[in-house]
Amino acid sequence: MRAIDETHDPQLTSWVSSANRAGCDFPIQNLPFTVFRRSGSAEPLRCGVGIGAAILDLTALGAASATDDTVAQAIAACAQPSLNALMALGAPAWLALRRWLSKVLRTGAGESGRLAAALVRQSAAQFAVPARIGDYTDFYTSIHHAIAVGRLFRPDQPLLPNYKWVPIAYHGRASSIVVSGVGVHRPRGQLMPRGAECPRVGPSERLDYEIELGVFIGRGNRLGEPIPIERAEEHVFGLCLLNDWSARDLQAWEYQPLGPFLAKNFATTLSPWVVTLEALAPFRAPWRRVAQDPSPLPYLDCPELRDAGAAEIELEVALETAAMRARGLAPQRLSRSDFRDSYWSIAQMVAHHTINGCNLAPGDLLGTGTQSGPRPEQAGSLLELTAAGARPLVLSSAEQRAFLADGDRVILRGACQRAGFVRIGFGEATGLVLPPA
Ligand code: MN
Repeated sequence: MRAIDETHDPQLTSWVSSANRAGCDFPIQNLPFTVFRRSGSAEPLRCGVGIGAAILDLTALGAASATDDTVAQAIAACAQPSLNALMALGAPAWLALRRWLSKVLRTGAGESGRLAAALVRQSAAQFAVPARIGDYTDFYTSIHHAIAVGRLFRPDQPLLPNYKWVPIAYHGRASSIVVSGVGVHRPRGQLMPRGAECPRVGPSERLDYEIELGVFIGRGNRLGEPIPIERAEEHVFGLCLLNDWSARDLQAWEYQPLGPFLAKNFATTLSPWVVTLEALAPFRAPWRRVAQDPSPLPYLDCPELRDAGAAEIELEVALETAAMRARGLAPQRLSRSDFRDSYWSIAQMVAHHTINGCNLAPGDLLGTGTQSGPRPEQAGSLLELTAAGARPLVLSSAEQRAFLADGDRVILRGACQRAGFVRIGFGEATGLVLPPA
């Protein structure tokens, strides 16, 4: 477990004044990592840190910046078009770099004059998927989502008997993971209309989003060597926002018996910012099960999990239709949920993924699955919010939506707040739905 330390001090402010504005996602207590270059330039992609409305370009600091060897090594690892090398260094290096960044970015820091030259405005940057993702696995950790979706398809048995024992997941597709802002074409595929004799091929008519968190693996494990749950979080670098775009009509026809395939692998959108587990330390919470539910098997349970294995991360989905844009209407919030309601924790996902000896590598991505809360309005997908399209939403523009229309922009946001600490945010993961390619 990461400790709360001086980097979380709510009194800290930054000489980057935009970081001190109320409601800013990236105050000095956050320090999320990203991969970027100046928009329209041919500069190499490289790693940076979000501070206020700016990015600190870690490759523009000069070799003599850090006096400490561990910090110098961590900064050197950032001169790459992905966070993988930094991720591979492990938790002591991440912590050393965070503490150094906190010192040099705080108000009164002697380095401010020199570092100011290494700031790039976020509005002048283009971003990349922050890691070279070798493998992507999507879990199903929200029991509220599992029950709501199960009810639609299996009213007699909404929750399958394995759910409370196994952190369910499927192996996803890494090649089609895109960064926020990249348009997503409506996928084509096999559709089997209700009552039809044969499937036909066409564009999905039931395109949906899923609000999830992405968990980036830092240090990996060797093939054949499971990661014990007590050590699982040492292998996790940080979290981002993830939209698991889903074509519900393709999914309904193809998913049995091997699970999601073409309904999911056409695109997955990530936020460009990775919020580290160090930054999340003040927002952890005890992990609990209701008394009627089984205790997890021993390999999925430990005192650290019970003490602080959950994380309070507020999540929000907003929708902006083409008509809203044309009329200057603000995007409309569709739902809010919180990762603290997840049935399975980050550490349990890692421990379960490796119990059979499966090896994880730096930059591997675990999706948490759709994060839906206990109340119906906390549902993290349109499938749930509209009862599989039976009850379309009426929007502020007077439009209706059962599923997504071309021109819709889906906006995911996340934030952590707790009394006594400064709020931190995840930025945004957005994606515009484009007509079929
Ligand atoms: Mn999903």
